[in-house]
Amino acid sequence: MSRATCATIHLGALRDNFQRLRERAAGARIMAVVKADGYGHGLERVARVLGDADAFGVACIADGQRLRAAGIRQRIVVLSGIDEAADIAEMHRLHLESTIHHESQIDWLAADRDPRPLRVWLKIDSGMHRLGFPPSRVSAARTRLLALPNVDRDIGVMTHFANSDVFGDAQTLQQIACFEQVVADMPGARTLSNSAAVLGWPQARGQWVRPGGLLYGISVVAGTNGLDFGFHPVMTLSSKLVAINRIAKGEPIGYAATWTCPQDMDIGVVQIGYGDGYPRSAESGTPVLLNGRRASIVGRVSMDLITVDLREHGDARVGDPVVLWGKHLPIEEIAAHAGTIGYELTCGMTRRVRFLEDQG
Ligand SMILES: *Cc1c(COP(=O)(O)O)cnc(C)c1O
Repeated sequence: MSRATCATIHLGALRDNFQRLRERAAGARIMAVVKADGYGHGLERVARVLGDADAFGVACIADGQRLRAAGIRQRIVVLSGIDEAADIAEMHRLHLESTIHHESQIDWLAADRDPRPLRVWLKIDSGMHRLGFPPSRVSAARTRLLALPNVDRDIGVMTHFANSDVFGDAQTLQQIACFEQVVADMPGARTLSNSAAVLGWPQARGQWVRPGGLLYGISVVAGTNGLDFGFHPVMTLSSKLVAINRIAKGEPIGYAATWTCPQDMDIGVVQIGYGDGYPRSAESGTPVLLNGRRASIVGRVSMDLITVDLREHGDARVGDPVVLWGKHLPIEEIAAHAGTIGYELTCGMTRRVRFLEDQG
């Protein structure tokens, strides 16, 4: 028997979420962010469903290779750009666009002999201090790029927010002001907003928005889930009950005996663990859905299995379905119990998880 653990990808929800983003960001073009294998949902699968996306944002050239091999024709922006001089030829071959965030990338372009113009986006560090030119060096970087015959004249300008999930936050206000000041005299498309900024920072719309998480129905705004904003989960992770055991009062459950039965009770064993990508950090009390009703994890998550409290599930039987997150159980809630965000959970699915698609 194959393992019961599977991730069902709801293609209709993905399509609906994209439409919802169109409404939320009316007037802006959408660069759908599909890095990390479409946040774990499957890169080609996601891109095929998002046939109306104006562009795709990826983390590396290898993602661009996969998208082109799958017949995807839209614009593709490599969000951290070229990593070495030799990347330029591959960018041309695949018609990819490069973010330019560092002088070394301009050096490689200046030394390149291919005369074809490469499309680029100039990345500005407006305060997150990860990638990008500091405000004082943006103008010089742009002048250098414009002097190169192998760079397309139409240079976009980009920045990224550190804290846009905190609506009204002062750092984001500063980042917006910084960006606007730096690009005030520059032509070219502006792009600032990730998913949370699309929701909470309409003044940062620009000509392009770059949502990732919301496409997959995931919110990173603390205390909320995607549904609160009208976005539906695209991944449902499910498995089944493989054992029900009667355990006596006072007996410990699982590795390191982190949980003790307060009474004689049934413990259910579910075929999922950190070997599938379910987080080991999920604490006792993390909910699962057993036959559509909530039950709690008790004891440590192990590699292949978890244990759940069946005291309120007297009707449970071996083979019953268990949902770990997705439809009817927000991934954001599981992430909160595991000290992380929903993105890390969907990105973490391992190769032994079977992927299924459904149209809903
Ligand atoms: C990941 C990423 C995004 C998308 O962020 P979400 O929070 O998933 O919407 C946008 N822009 C850049 C540069 C990114 O790295």
